[in-house]
Amino acid sequence: MTALPRLSPTLRSVAALAEAGLISPETADALAPVGQRYAVAVTPEIAAALHAGAGDGVARQFLPDARELVTLPEELPDPIGDAPHSPVPGIVHRYADRLLLKLVSTCAVYCRFCFRREMVGPGKEMLSAEETEAALAYIADHPAIWEVILTGGDPLVLSARRLREIKARLDAIPHVGALRIHTRVPVVAPERITGELVEALGGRLPVHILIHANHADEFTPAARAAVARLVDAGIPLFGQSVLLRGVNDSVPALTDLFRTMVSLRIKPHYLHHGDLAPGTAHFRLPLAEGMALMRALRGPLSGLALPTYMLDIPGGYGKVPVTADYLTPDGQGGWWVTDPQGRRHAYRDTGESHN
Ligand SMILES: *Cc1c(COP(=O)(O)O)cnc(C)c1O
Ligand code: SF4
Repeated sequence: MTALPRLSPTLRSVAALAEAGLISPETADALAPVGQRYAVAVTPEIAAALHAGAGDGVARQFLPDARELVTLPEELPDPIGDAPHSPVPGIVHRYADRLLLKLVSTCAVYCRFCFRREMVGPGKEMLSAEETEAALAYIADHPAIWEVILTGGDPLVLSARRLREIKARLDAIPHVGALRIHTRVPVVAPERITGELVEALGGRLPVHILIHANHADEFTPAARAAVARLVDAGIPLFGQSVLLRGVNDSVPALTDLFRTMVSLRIKPHYLHHGDLAPGTAHFRLPLAEGMALMRALRGPLSGLALPTYMLDIPGGYGKVPVTADYLTPDGQGGWWVTDPQGRRHAYRDTGESHN
């Protein structure tokens, strides 16, 4: 009798991470409450990268940490204010010409710093058939909507068949001119980027994919191959990263990340300041430190490799570049942030300063 090859499943609990040798049995006890509070998932690709020696830059993004149990008063269940702009389930419509369509609330991995960590996870499944119809009807009924952004959750956990259906429905709405997909799948679950999936994204609407990655070591050989399959199919790729303490908060780490992206034909697009999600203070940097890092990169690093550093204003007021055009010191260690409509909002750093 031949033994079947053992398929390594996604690790979905603190106990499973301990069993796989990714955290020590002693730490597992202390981390059990974190696993009860927030979703855990480490894919075989990421587990293999960690076993092969990927360092803290990868580990800290995916392995639970006891500090996640500390929630600061200013941290919010809905840090970027999706709810006030959600006219129907699954839609977030903040800007007239574009909106988010969230078909799924699950992801291939669960990032420890996730800005939507109270909204994503197993059990918070997907839009029902009726809700999906209502969301599509909302788009069809609003001629000002030019771009649809699939996000979640991670839209590329959907089957190729389902993606093909959704794509065809959006292709059929004449005023929609562009489709954007925000995903981590090509990096953390590259085996999902099959020829069938790439084909499902064909049709009338051009597709741009924004890949979320925060450290160069996430780009395993399989991830690089998945990225190449997408670009070779003519899909433009952009990088989205989050500035994270202990992951990429240095000039060498950011240089390495952005150069790796460019070498793989991914244009670094946004570097997000950490949102005020619950239990993530240990990941956040003060804005001034993020600005200093961006200044240090401007000049030494190719302009092609430089993303725009962005702050999503808490409460749902939109994203702005972290520059003097939008931020002014309030004289008391905090900031005034001007939103895209010209309104001013107070912002106070809660990240730990390390200098
Ligand atoms: C981030 C975001 C967008 C996209 O904004 P861009 O600056 O075009 O990337 C659109 N809608 C919502 C609700 C968002 O949060
Ligand atoms: S992939 Fe995105 S939505 Fe999913 S857990 Fe990570 S940051 Fe959150």
